[in-house]
Amino acid sequence: MSINFSDGLEDQPIVTSSSVLPEDASEGSLRPKTITEYIGQEKAKDNLSVFIDAARMRGEPLDHVLLHGPPGLGKTTLAAVIANEMGVNMRITSGPAIEKPGDLVAMLTNLNEGDILFVDEIHRLNRAYEEILYPAMEDYAIDIILGKGPSANSIHLELPKFTLIGATTRSGQLTAPLRDRFGVSLRLELYTPDELRRIVERSSDILGIEIDRDGAMEIASRSRGTPRIANRMLRRVRDFAQVRAGGVITKDVADMALSRLEVDKLGLDALDRRMLRSIIEFYNGGPVGLDTLAATINEEAVTLEDVYEPYLLQQGFLTRTPRGRCVTRKAYEHLGIECLGQEELSL
Ligand code: ADP
Repeated sequence: MSINFSDGLEDQPIVTSSSVLPEDASEGSLRPKTITEYIGQEKAKDNLSVFIDAARMRGEPLDHVLLHGPPGLGKTTLAAVIANEMGVNMRITSGPAIEKPGDLVAMLTNLNEGDILFVDEIHRLNRAYEEILYPAMEDYAIDIILGKGPSANSIHLELPKFTLIGATTRSGQLTAPLRDRFGVSLRLELYTPDELRRIVERSSDILGIEIDRDGAMEIASRSRGTPRIANRMLRRVRDFAQVRAGGVITKDVADMALSRLEVDKLGLDALDRRMLRSIIEFYNGGPVGLDTLAATINEEAVTLEDVYEPYLLQQGFLTRTPRGRCVTRKAYEHLGIECLGQEELSL
């Protein structure tokens, strides 16, 4: 077994990344299958249950659903739960995987009555192909143009009644006509530490990992409100527990392992701290525009906005103002930097 507990930032394991990594291959076995197994997101689940029951009573497919929220919060999982609850099959694709209109047409025409088509990262679907979706979603039909110029022929194809579930980290980037065609739009929120603790305990059960309640809570409170990160941390901490601590994950073991991975008590990793520190050191606490900040710390603005900011905003380290991002007094305190001349800082 190799554990890379390095001190250097470059080759540091990216345990706090919310994107899918190769080591997350076992995620499938941890995915809840039913709405009762799906922990947290009570508001979204409540609404969904009503829509699912109503559709079932009418014997109709569910209305099209848009799921939005940061990566790793359970959008794909929830789509699979919906398919399971409706008793239908789910086909999976993603915006960037649809490279030509034919790909989308093939997906749509291969659906069976009631099926769910899940399109991940739907905001990255080519705008020109979006238009195929409009009549497909509205009237369950598509018009295909065959050939070019005066000899071009249009054929009308009826589709089975299906449900489109779109997932996106950036609902603001969806065009209005596409957004309007979703009857149901649900926003997934970051999870509370207690919900994440239940997720960690459930995953430990499935994976046969011994963990006590405080150990689970320690992982939960350091996983940025994100189940994918909580599950990944659990696997990393397990390695550490096996090699150094007799196999059981306690609060101390979790604390030791996560500190070695440079995840601090509040779940901030090296990049979070670099981002906050840069705003303080180079921009006197802000405001600073997102693009300028991204260039300063050599990261992509989209990554900062989609992946890093939600947690920093939720934890009250950062505020968004019309003139840019500002750090709060809490960020100064957390980083142990004295806050001078920052009367405007929010608490
Ligand atoms: P997204 O599609 O939003 O990026 P996923 O649905 O792939 O996120 O979820 C990532 C992992 O987190 C899943 O493999 C699943 O094990 C876990 N997970 C997500 N949401 C929940 C939940 N509500 N309860 C339990 N586990 C969850």
